[in-house]
Amino acid sequence: MFIISSNNMLKKAQQQHYAVPAFNIHNLETMQVIVETVAELQSPVILAGTPGTYSYAGTENIVAIASALAEKYNVPLALHLDHHEDFNDINDKIHAGVRSVMIDGSHETFNENIAIVKRVVDYAHRYDVSVEAELGRLGGIEDDLVVDSKDALYTNPKQAAEFVEKTGIDSLAIAIGTAHGLYKSEPKLDFERLSQIRSVVDIPLVLHGASGIPDKDVRECIKRGICKVNVATELKIAFSDALKHYFIANPDANDPRHYMKPAKAAMKDVVKKIIDTCGCAGKL
Ligand SMILES: [Zn+2]
Repeated sequence: MFIISSNNMLKKAQQQHYAVPAFNIHNLETMQVIVETVAELQSPVILAGTPGTYSYAGTENIVAIASALAEKYNVPLALHLDHHEDFNDINDKIHAGVRSVMIDGSHETFNENIAIVKRVVDYAHRYDVSVEAELGRLGGIEDDLVVDSKDALYTNPKQAAEFVEKTGIDSLAIAIGTAHGLYKSEPKLDFERLSQIRSVVDIPLVLHGASGIPDKDVRECIKRGICKVNVATELKIAFSDALKHYFIANPDANDPRHYMKPAKAAMKDVVKKIIDTCGCAGKL
């Protein structure tokens, strides 16, 4: 099997103190670049998509492309559902071949979040599908999910331990000051809180909103126990900026095989940089 859960790769990352990058993919070119690059660097990787991405590109198309690329490059890929909220939607995608899911009940009350997540865990584990959930809230925008950054709540360590125990999740996304999208001012991360959570929670911890966080801060998070680093915006910007520059220089360009080249090269640089930050090269 080439499409796998993220369980083993994240457990290994936790034991060996590095992180696995989860890149949000949007199209064929993003997937090609990521898989080609992780194969070169022998890095584990998670390909992630929000509900918006899966409906834009088509779940069956994403699963088919991921399977074909994994086989071509001989790298097992974790194909992941990022910020999914609907039980039936998750269920359908598990049946379509996805083996790693995030159920996001973080906007609900603590007890409601536990109930929603537990239901998905009980179902997903039957199929050996790994489950990530989030406690606390991130600021910013992820698709149509908008949280006022002032209302973003940080993860409470004591609640985190209880949440993990009661839900049986495989990995936990925490809120320590990161946000989705772009940062208006330099984010101040609560490293001490991360260490406190790490000391009471024994499963892999996940950092969302890593785009725009200084490299040294991401490394500090990994040192303190983050095992999965989510990257979305940084890839989008690299891709879009390269395209814009190409069209400005070549206003008559009309062949995707030409104008996608610099866009792919720009994404490749981002993928390499993130793999370096995560310390996961050679950890396949
Ligand atoms: Zn996220």
